[in-house]
Amino acid sequence: MAGMGVGSSGAPTDRMEDSPSGASTRGPHRLSAVRVCERKWAFRYHWDFRPPARADKDWRLGGTLIHLCLAYYYASRMPVETQPHWFKVKDLYQALKDEGQGRDHVIESAKASLAAYMQEYAADDIRPMWIEKEWTAKLGELDPGGPWPELDDEEVTCRSDLVYELTRSGFGNIMDHKSFGVSKTRRDGTLVKWSPDGEFSLNWQILVNLQIVRAELLRMGRDPTWLRGFVIQRCTRNSPYVFDRNVVPISQAAYSYTPRLLRKAVKMELDLMARIEAGDAPDPNYDACYGKYGPCDYIDVCRAATDEQAKAVLLRDFERKISV
Ligand code: SF4
Repeated sequence: MAGMGVGSSGAPTDRMEDSPSGASTRGPHRLSAVRVCERKWAFRYHWDFRPPARADKDWRLGGTLIHLCLAYYYASRMPVETQPHWFKVKDLYQALKDEGQGRDHVIESAKASLAAYMQEYAADDIRPMWIEKEWTAKLGELDPGGPWPELDDEEVTCRSDLVYELTRSGFGNIMDHKSFGVSKTRRDGTLVKWSPDGEFSLNWQILVNLQIVRAELLRMGRDPTWLRGFVIQRCTRNSPYVFDRNVVPISQAAYSYTPRLLRKAVKMELDLMARIEAGDAPDPNYDACYGKYGPCDYIDVCRAATDEQAKAVLLRDFERKISV
């Protein structure tokens, strides 16, 4: 892991970010939240009540640290002049310490996973192009002639783990890293068999990423068809550290429908914002309180007996960067 950050010089190609982690500004999670539960969207994106980082469970932190390790690994393989800013201002060891919340066992697992990954893919046919970049597109670029033309200049965003070029073919792909803990692996700790019909076969995040990255490539003057597809890079979070890499089949119909859905989600978001600012309360959706990753972050707020108690939970258990 030598050479993982700091000591390089040259102009960064991306925004001057000090960390490779962070959510996308108006990305697929946010635009999904507004459809799933108005109240959840409002807590998180309108009033900015965030669960404190220290509350991260080990599995969530483990996934974050593996992303961090892979971001530094691929940045170390870029030409110095295109390496991201965060790679130049902080090395991987310091980044792990800063993000690791003092949980050394999770940090050590992430480091061991990276060491195994580097060995597994030592002969990789990959040229990293953009790492943890936030991509943007205007609705008018994605969905020309769509309804509510006043929304054409509204931007939607996504953040991709890695956009790379296959050195042999010269074509590009988006890679998304997915890590799996013991509860999601086989009894012997290895990955369950990849299924092309599984959870990623029709996936909002993937469709949005492909649309937005291609739109920005076009704006950069590049051929958007250079970007061929989306790859899920899987790994285990604990020993044995095993990996596989899978190309996701994309439905052309679903891909074509995605820009209109983005426009509708932005419309919903702006309408909801106007309602809240006019004094209306965002509706809860009690059908969305438990998902595949467990309870909603705000479940203790919503199961409080009174509004006053709910407010007290919000103020006690959440952090806020802006005031309301
Ligand atoms: S707990 Fe349920 S109702 Fe409350 S914000 Fe979350 S999803 Fe919405």
